[in-house]
Amino acid sequence: MTTEPSKAPPLYPKTHLLAASGIAALLSLALLVFPSSDVEAKRTSLSLDLESPVEQLTQDQDASDAQQATNTATESPFAQIESTPEDTQQAAQEAPAAAKSPQHREVIVGKGDTLSTLFEKVGLPAAAVNDVLASDKQAKQLTQLKRGQKLEFELTPDGQLNNLHTSISDLESISLSKGAKGFAFNRITTKPVMRSAYVHGVINSSLSQSAARAGLSHSMTMDMASVFGYDIDFAQDIRQGDEFDVIYEQKVANGKVVGTGNILSARFTNRGKTYTAVRYTNKQGNSSYYTADGNSMRKAFIRTPVDFARISSRFSMGRKHPILNKIRAHKGVDYAAPRGTPIKAAGDGKVLLAGRRGGYGNTVIIQHGNTYRTLYGHMQGFAKGVKTGGNVKQGQVIGYIGTTGLSTGPHLHYEFQVNGVHVDPLGQKLPMADPIAKAERARFMQQSQPLMARMDQERSTLLASAKR
Ligand SMILES: [Zn+2]
Repeated sequence: MTTEPSKAPPLYPKTHLLAASGIAALLSLALLVFPSSDVEAKRTSLSLDLESPVEQLTQDQDASDAQQATNTATESPFAQIESTPEDTQQAAQEAPAAAKSPQHREVIVGKGDTLSTLFEKVGLPAAAVNDVLASDKQAKQLTQLKRGQKLEFELTPDGQLNNLHTSISDLESISLSKGAKGFAFNRITTKPVMRSAYVHGVINSSLSQSAARAGLSHSMTMDMASVFGYDIDFAQDIRQGDEFDVIYEQKVANGKVVGTGNILSARFTNRGKTYTAVRYTNKQGNSSYYTADGNSMRKAFIRTPVDFARISSRFSMGRKHPILNKIRAHKGVDYAAPRGTPIKAAGDGKVLLAGRRGGYGNTVIIQHGNTYRTLYGHMQGFAKGVKTGGNVKQGQVIGYIGTTGLSTGPHLHYEFQVNGVHVDPLGQKLPMADPIAKAERARFMQQSQPLMARMDQERSTLLASAKR
């Protein structure tokens, strides 16, 4: 158990993401080196009435789809999902009219097209382009055409331009409408609606492949790996038959999936052992991942302060010092890595020193609560903003690998102290970060239990349908 002081907890959740990014970097590499082979993965959506949300929603962008997406989000039990009536309104406005009038023209931008050539294609005089562009400063944006872009024209009965409309991205469209005083420029931005989606995957060879097959994006896969990164070594421990379930946020605009948000809950079975994760935002607004029963996923310290480093010397009570040539205790671990490689704070804490310290050269010493202290020696230099008396977050870059002080080559000398006694950082059982606060436990369980139940339900529905 950790004996971190009570003032520390609010710092933890925010830093999770920082720490996660380090793990993610490691994983990026790990994910790439797996051999390829067949992967079994399955996918479904959380909303039972939308079995295949992506295909179904992209086919036809009508208002009812947007409405449905909103409903799914609103009905969901997760507090994090936001939805406002405006979303639906905007989505509905975006939908093209069902019945198209005879004065309606559509053209797709081709190679070499300009606004003038497109005007000609719909039967408008090329000179009309000048009127349009002169009407409003912002109208110029209509000249920035991309191949494949669709322009929709509404003409007046006598063949003049009445309205021109085009989508410039999934979330933004612009238009010009004829009014009493010429053309008026209008921009409509759509705020995506959040809804939740479910994926299930079984690993046959690599996590990245099975995740991709399951429909999980690369960044989502990295997120999942970071969430479980304190418990599972994704570089070495992944085995055939490992399984995962993820419920995550999906951003939908105009009936189309335009992005993803956070992982809301996940479950990973690694070599027969199942780990759970639930994202929870506490009353102070900090989000972090906890096990389904409310323990932090996060350890108070990350395992190694340097990614991709080689351990060049271990902790020992007696070794021959390479420069002093005497038997001396080595009260830390050395990580060899190229000069300039970032060094990360192992945990949240207060910087006791960021400066020169004898044979250690450029050194950072961090105090973590009352019990723990870490030291980082031989640095080439310090990261911006890291100074004596300041605070650092777990995973924050504090400096760079160098060879200052008594050192034979670029490496980090890393020490770990518990109550003033040097211990082997590699031999330590790392203390956990704080669990869910007692006062928030009930609220947490109200979110955690339905998420877990939902993963069970989704998975059994999926397995049942696979048997048929
Ligand atoms: Zn050393």
